[in-house]
Amino acid sequence: MGSCKDQEEQQAKCVWIQGPILVGAGPSGLAVSACLSKHGIPSVILEKSDCIASLWQQRTYERLKLHLPKQFCELPLLGFPENFPKYPTKRQFVSYLESYASHFSIKPRFNQTVQSAEFDSGSGFWRVRTQDSKYFSRWLIVATGENAEPVIPEIVGMEKFHGPVVHTSGYKSGSDFRNHKVLVVGCGNSGMEVSLDLCRHNAIPYMVVRNTVHVLPREMFGFSTFAIAMALLKWLPLRLVDKILLLVANFTLGNTEQLGLRRPKTGPIELKNATGKTPVLDVGALSQIKSGKIKVMEGVKEITRNGGRFMDGQEKEFDSIILATGYKSNVPTWLKGCDFFTNDGMPKIPFPNGWKGENGLYTVGFTRRGLLGTASDADKIAKDIADQWRTKKECKNSYNSHIILLKKS
Ligand SMILES: Cc1cc2nc3c(=O)[nH]c(=O)nc-3n(C[C@H](O)[C@H](O)[C@H](O)COP(=O)(O)OP(=O)(O)OC[C@H]3O[C@@H](n4cnc5c(N)ncnc54)[C@H](O)[C@@H]3O)c2cc1C
Repeated sequence: MGSCKDQEEQQAKCVWIQGPILVGAGPSGLAVSACLSKHGIPSVILEKSDCIASLWQQRTYERLKLHLPKQFCELPLLGFPENFPKYPTKRQFVSYLESYASHFSIKPRFNQTVQSAEFDSGSGFWRVRTQDSKYFSRWLIVATGENAEPVIPEIVGMEKFHGPVVHTSGYKSGSDFRNHKVLVVGCGNSGMEVSLDLCRHNAIPYMVVRNTVHVLPREMFGFSTFAIAMALLKWLPLRLVDKILLLVANFTLGNTEQLGLRRPKTGPIELKNATGKTPVLDVGALSQIKSGKIKVMEGVKEITRNGGRFMDGQEKEFDSIILATGYKSNVPTWLKGCDFFTNDGMPKIPFPNGWKGENGLYTVGFTRRGLLGTASDADKIAKDIADQWRTKKECKNSYNSHIILLKKS
């Protein structure tokens, strides 16, 4: 008698996909699907949630705006509407993505969590398994993102804490924390922005800064810092650009070390390229730190029932804890029999060559370069598959005409 697992296996629906299978309907999945459709190639997107861009719709705070100016966040083939501001809000970004999907007639299959995907060398097909179906295709495009799962740090005593402990992926607004003393663990863009949002709702954030961090102004002399860096990099060596950025940052923001925000020895862009660690683009948190409304704390030693003990010996009481501790990729949990990814779920081959693996495997959105990286990957993947698609079609046509000739003779 077969086990339940065998029965489930037999009941799974088998679906043969003519074009590629994409896993994930975030900006990256949508961008590749649109580029493929430009080449006349159909694709199927499998998405575990019930909407497109679930990170943006379900796992980000209300006040979020794009960190970079809109021209650096556009997907290929269709730009933002003219009337969008320089830094679109999360709602505007989601509405752009919805129009993008409808413009290219992209209809992902929702509530399809990819549990495993494996290449079958016998048939030359990828076998992709969701909770109720098996999909087969020659091409598999991984678009599940660098931010698929929250990183939850292990802090001694956390289980004893009496109040709510929330990861930023579950944080919506500071209004839920009015008058609370909140421990914010982490000082990246999310930690800073959540602390700022808490201040605006009369909460009292204590932000834990364990490591070094580069804080840069979002704009310098009225131009986006990111745009300035991109422009300078065309003409000057990276280290010189880093020096210029830090000079202007120190001039406009002052010495951040005095506020407890020590800068890494490596410059901001060099560090980003080497480790993926993004500099914080300040949108107002720094002035709240200067005024003492956001309190900067050294690393947490231990969480207690009512609060926390810190490395410098201080002890404080808190009502809530917010973990601004980042995200990780989930690729190793479902992509099997393939050594293209590291244990952390990032391609082993660095940018700009990490978009293509073997046997029809592709990755999009794993460049640590945000939506700019996505746009570049999407274009390359679509072109590469289009070349194979054409060859396949030509082979099929010549095979078909051969059969017709044989029939005639
Ligand atoms: C708070 C925040 C702000 C950001 N701001 C910017 C910015 O201003 N500019 C910028 O360029 N970048 C920004 N980023 C980076 C951001 O990750 C990208 O912009 C973008 O969301 C990446 O798109 P993606 O499609 O690669 O990944 P995601 O948006 O994460 O989409 C991946 C999709 O895959 C789905 N999925 C995951 N696992 C499975 C599975 N096993 N089966 C089926 N589906 C699955 C998920 O549900 C999700 O819908 C920001 C990130 C965060 C967290």
